[in-house]
Amino acid sequence: MRNGLVVLGGDREEFHRESHKIRSQSSSSEEEAQTNQSFPDVGVNKVEDTNVDSSSASRSPNEASAIYNTNKEDNNNNNNSKRPVLGSIQQKKNDKAPRPGFPKNPRIGVGDSKPRACPFYKKIPGTTFTVDAFRYGLIEGCSSYFLSHFHYDHYGGLSKGWSHGPIYCSPITARLVRMSLLVNPSYIRPLELDNAYVIEGVKVVLLEANHCPGATLILFHLAHGRCYLHTGDFRATKMMQSHPLLANQRVNLLYLDTTYCNPKYKFPSKEDVLEFVVKMTRNYIKNQPKTLIVVGAYSIGKECVYLAISKALGVKIYANASRRRVLHSFGWPELSGGLCSRGEDTPLHVIPISSLRHETLKKYSETYKRQYTAVLAFRPTGWTYSETTGNHLDLIKPNSRGNITIYGVPYSEHSSFLELREFVQFLRPDKIIPTVNIGTSANRDKMQSYFQEWLQPKDS
Ligand SMILES: [Zn+2]
Repeated sequence: MRNGLVVLGGDREEFHRESHKIRSQSSSSEEEAQTNQSFPDVGVNKVEDTNVDSSSASRSPNEASAIYNTNKEDNNNNNNSKRPVLGSIQQKKNDKAPRPGFPKNPRIGVGDSKPRACPFYKKIPGTTFTVDAFRYGLIEGCSSYFLSHFHYDHYGGLSKGWSHGPIYCSPITARLVRMSLLVNPSYIRPLELDNAYVIEGVKVVLLEANHCPGATLILFHLAHGRCYLHTGDFRATKMMQSHPLLANQRVNLLYLDTTYCNPKYKFPSKEDVLEFVVKMTRNYIKNQPKTLIVVGAYSIGKECVYLAISKALGVKIYANASRRRVLHSFGWPELSGGLCSRGEDTPLHVIPISSLRHETLKKYSETYKRQYTAVLAFRPTGWTYSETTGNHLDLIKPNSRGNITIYGVPYSEHSSFLELREFVQFLRPDKIIPTVNIGTSANRDKMQSYFQEWLQPKDS
């Protein structure tokens, strides 16, 4: 729904003025070779963090330094009294801050440590915007940096030394950027979902991406009528098809999360996986009432898995202090109310997904050996999907050793192949730019051939 239109602007000139400095460094990678192309069909995949950020920038956590004018139209939002709106956001000069674009980190410009150039598929054509492009230092011509969600492969490069320009993202992501990365708040511009904002003449709307908390799709309406959709990371749903801003929208260019753009990925719905996890847990504790249940999770994401177990068993969720801080920041009462701070107080624990190994779990459960005689662990990720089991969750075989049992469950926060197809066929964009698994031309060609097939005229 369109609740309002907010007009925002940035201090473009300041960013442009300094932008030539990093660009003047030479570049040689395949990625950089593609940087200045406007709409090539190919792209590249992996970019390593180049640590271009400085930690030396002084923080001036001065919200007032962002001046928001109020020039909102079509505003049905009763809540906007607290929300900075419209007009232009202007950055106050911070004398102590490093000059934008100046190589603050001594590694920059030395040997191969310089930041790589931003690849074309992170730049929105016809605008001065980039999406999830924080690891390239100052980007020439970029005045607004969008962040689709708070996963490292998207925010990498952001740190408290960030000074290259305003960062636009959802309110949850904004809180995480501020809280976890200590980014100077005067650079952070939270945008409410489903609200239209005008940023440098471009209408921008963030939509729910059904990925991790705070993850958004980003819709760009350019002044000359073109419309681009960037999915960030997302799991396509039927709900998206009924969203008024997508239902009748011609999309000229779709930047698509192609993580599972391969027909072998036919994993089940999240709801089915949650049902399976709850069923397995109930069965297990029927036989082994003294069982410690462990769910693996990334820094954010997969919350619904442990929430489902928590609700079904009527038990609290234990997570360590730093994870609890992050989870509280979402502002979800149901989740916040379910957390507890002592591992001894509940049989349901959340730990990093990387710790879901027999050795680590054995060590972890030592602490609780007086309370529990067994461990049941779930590793929820689409990567655990196996073609052999397919949608038949009951065929999933756990990995058991001694009293420790680990289930890999195909709980995915990215679209399956069929969901991608359905989304693309619903949206029927003029052109698709895949954003994941694009490191080889074979992959890129394969995906483009799927897209062509999906977008064939209906009556042919
Ligand atoms: Zn992600």
